[in-house]
Amino acid sequence: MATDLQAENQALRQRLDAILREARANELKMQRFEQVEHRLISARSMSDLVNLLLDEYRNAFAIDAVSLILVDHDQEVSRILGSERAEDARMQALTLVPTSAPIKALYGDALRPCLGPYRAVAHQHLFVGAKVPLASVALLPLVRHGELIGSFHFGSSDPARYEHHAGTRFLERLVAVISVCLESALNQERLKQAGLTDALTGVHNRRYFEHRCQIEISQARRYRHPLACMFLDIDHFKSINDGYGHGTGDEVLRTVGKLILGQLRAGDTIARYGGEEFVALLPRASAEHACEIAERIRSKIAATPMAALSGEALRVTISIGLSVLDAEPGDTPQGPVAEHLVASADEALYEAKRRGRNQVVWEFEPAPVKLPVLTDVKPH
Ligand code: GH3
Ligand code: MG
Ligand code: MG
Repeated sequence: MATDLQAENQALRQRLDAILREARANELKMQRFEQVEHRLISARSMSDLVNLLLDEYRNAFAIDAVSLILVDHDQEVSRILGSERAEDARMQALTLVPTSAPIKALYGDALRPCLGPYRAVAHQHLFVGAKVPLASVALLPLVRHGELIGSFHFGSSDPARYEHHAGTRFLERLVAVISVCLESALNQERLKQAGLTDALTGVHNRRYFEHRCQIEISQARRYRHPLACMFLDIDHFKSINDGYGHGTGDEVLRTVGKLILGQLRAGDTIARYGGEEFVALLPRASAEHACEIAERIRSKIAATPMAALSGEALRVTISIGLSVLDAEPGDTPQGPVAEHLVASADEALYEAKRRGRNQVVWEFEPAPVKLPVLTDVKPH
């Protein structure tokens, strides 16, 4: 009798221990979830958010494989993440798709979390970089205002981790939070872009240029590569406005902005500096290379037929001034170096105007960190 009671007692104690262990594990899971949720909500950029989802989330919950698909209609996300996407290994688990069709195929009509065994045919393309063989998966549709905006996936080598009948309330809350965070990150990025973009031409504005200039100068000095700066100014633009009206002037500005952009590389920066003046930064471009590009831009614009809003043919030319920072690490503060680089290009532009316009002039400054007085503008 006594032994029966003892056995029953022991069994009860074991069950109680198991329940307590599970409760503790759940509490820990909830705490970790709340921490991650807090981090998601306070993510400051799209790349922060994507890295949180792909990296920190996987670590916090010891998930074997995590991947994310985002619908990127106008390549907006692709532009926002830019080169980071190619350079950051963590972002390899991110796929951008132009429409929601491939995601819809995963879920059918019910846009609910979908848990179950891993099936290679249906799932292997979702977990291309998985380091262990997977046995179960959780597929989570990201929905905002009734529209599919993406899909978040977990894979586990444990067949019991994501089972059909498992409760999905926790995961549903997670995807709702992620969806809101994605939308808000995208809106924040749009605001950031709007503040740094020129509304008329769509290229960056002077504020962005000034910010970018500091970054490029610091990179050029650190890695000792040259940095070219170009000032580009439309010739006799006032007479285009006066002769054909402001509307035509605006259209010419837009076209010239596009033509300049079309001749630059992906890592170059172009901005509208003011009025009918553009400025470009070309990292790793020597004076000779920058001259070639400037000449290409000049001749492209001169050779492109343009028309006034009235239909009349227009001839538009541009003058370009160039300066190159042949960077050496030094202790001159960045601000004066940037000012000098820009002032040199502006000076060279002035010289191009003085010499009759529709031409490129460069001012090569071998030791800009010494900030010498600007003299000696050399012809190309
Ligand atoms: P130069 O060859 O010496 O550069 O002569 P320019 O006529 O191009 O230069 P100027 O500085 O005399 O005139 C620039 C004109 O650009 C005057 C200004 O009204 C016009 N402008 C500035 N911003 C805009 C704009 O956003 N739209 C239009 N249509 N015109 C603009
Ligand atoms: Mg002008
Ligand atoms: Mg001007």
